Amino acid sequence: MQVHESTTVATFADLRVDGARLWDSLMQLARIGATAKGGVCRLALTELDRQARDLFIAWAKEIGCSVRIDAIGNIFARRAGLRDDLPPVMTGSHIDTQPTGGKFDGNYGVLAGLEVLRTLTDANVQTLAPLEVAVWTNEEGSRFVPVMMGSGVFAGAFTLEHALEQHDREGITVRDALSQIGYAGEIKKPHAVGAYFEAHIEQGPVLEAHDKTIGVVQGALGQRWYDVTVHGMEAHAGPTPMELRRDALLVAADLIHAVNRIALDHAPHGRGTVGWLDVHPNSRNVIPGRVTLTVDLRAADDASLTAMDSALRAACSVAGEKSGITVDVEQVVYFPPQPFTAELVGAVKQGADTLGFSSMDVISGAGHDAVYLARVAPAAMIFVPCKDGISHNEIEDARADHLEAGCNVLLQAMLSAAQKAGSADA
Ligand SMILES: [Zn+2]
Repeated sequence: MQVHESTTVATFADLRVDGARLWDSLMQLARIGATAKGGVCRLALTELDRQARDLFIAWAKEIGCSVRIDAIGNIFARRAGLRDDLPPVMTGSHIDTQPTGGKFDGNYGVLAGLEVLRTLTDANVQTLAPLEVAVWTNEEGSRFVPVMMGSGVFAGAFTLEHALEQHDREGITVRDALSQIGYAGEIKKPHAVGAYFEAHIEQGPVLEAHDKTIGVVQGALGQRWYDVTVHGMEAHAGPTPMELRRDALLVAADLIHAVNRIALDHAPHGRGTVGWLDVHPNSRNVIPGRVTLTVDLRAADDASLTAMDSALRAACSVAGEKSGITVDVEQVVYFPPQPFTAELVGAVKQGADTLGFSSMDVISGAGHDAVYLARVAPAAMIFVPCKDGISHNEIEDARADHLEAGCNVLLQAMLSAAQKAGSADA
């Protein structure tokens, strides 16, 4: 490859990705695990995941990337820089899906990164800092818990050993699944990352509602998840008068309303969801004796999230006391709110402006690999709209021109970070 030492940022600004090639690659990857309804079922560390990983690596090697795999199966495809000693400017996402997943969630971020590298290879230019595309293992958390496993290990959120010991419903461990598909790599120590960008479909309706092409992601909501158990008393639905009942489901119903109110009290970014309910004994003519429900609270700042936590606990005591019922609240997950790095967020905004795309500031309501990466490197995300805001669904859809726009913004943001890395160091 010819090296253009004199390549300037000005000429980089003229580079554009190949939107048709990006779309074709997305469609080709979507054939691996394709479902009848037009979605994708490609659970983490399955044979289908292996095929998708192999395809990505083949594509990366076609353009001269070197490829490394770490001990949790994360893949790093690297395009050398003129100053190859600098920490890479990285992008990436995941290619595992939900059982009834779509073609774009995660896959877009990986293939947008690949398209950036392909574009630079076509143009025969080199960046100062090296560039890397990462494929993070098991982002979805559908087959193995916890979610965002590969990026979590990389960022030190939990240990490699802890992740390797997790197992699916059949009892197969992550360790065994990785070696079965040939992706148990040797590398145990994470490498330094100069900057991390992740392009992703929004998975929500805000960009579409505002008719904007690019979401400049400011950060991700903090989350607290709970298991709440309401202990009532089972009794016969006929002989037990209303005033003598201890109906656990009635208390649960109060709590569902309370969760909704707590989120509304913390608008615009507060979220509160009861998504799962287990009623015992769940029989037509038995007063429910025990109800377990999940509560998911989210907020943009920790003060709000803490206030929501207190409000939930207060609501549980009040609802219980009212009816002489015990309510247990156990927090099972906590992700602090994660703001992204101002300088990189600025590069995303700048990229959208320079390219003439409409944009707006948004906050990510969902977790992403970028949220963990933000703990160990400067990080930012680029959102593009998805049809009707629908994701984690086989009908998930996105427009080719939006995907191309987001990829062009990614290209410009990565180039600016890669050149700055060099100049700051020089
Ligand atoms: Zn995703």
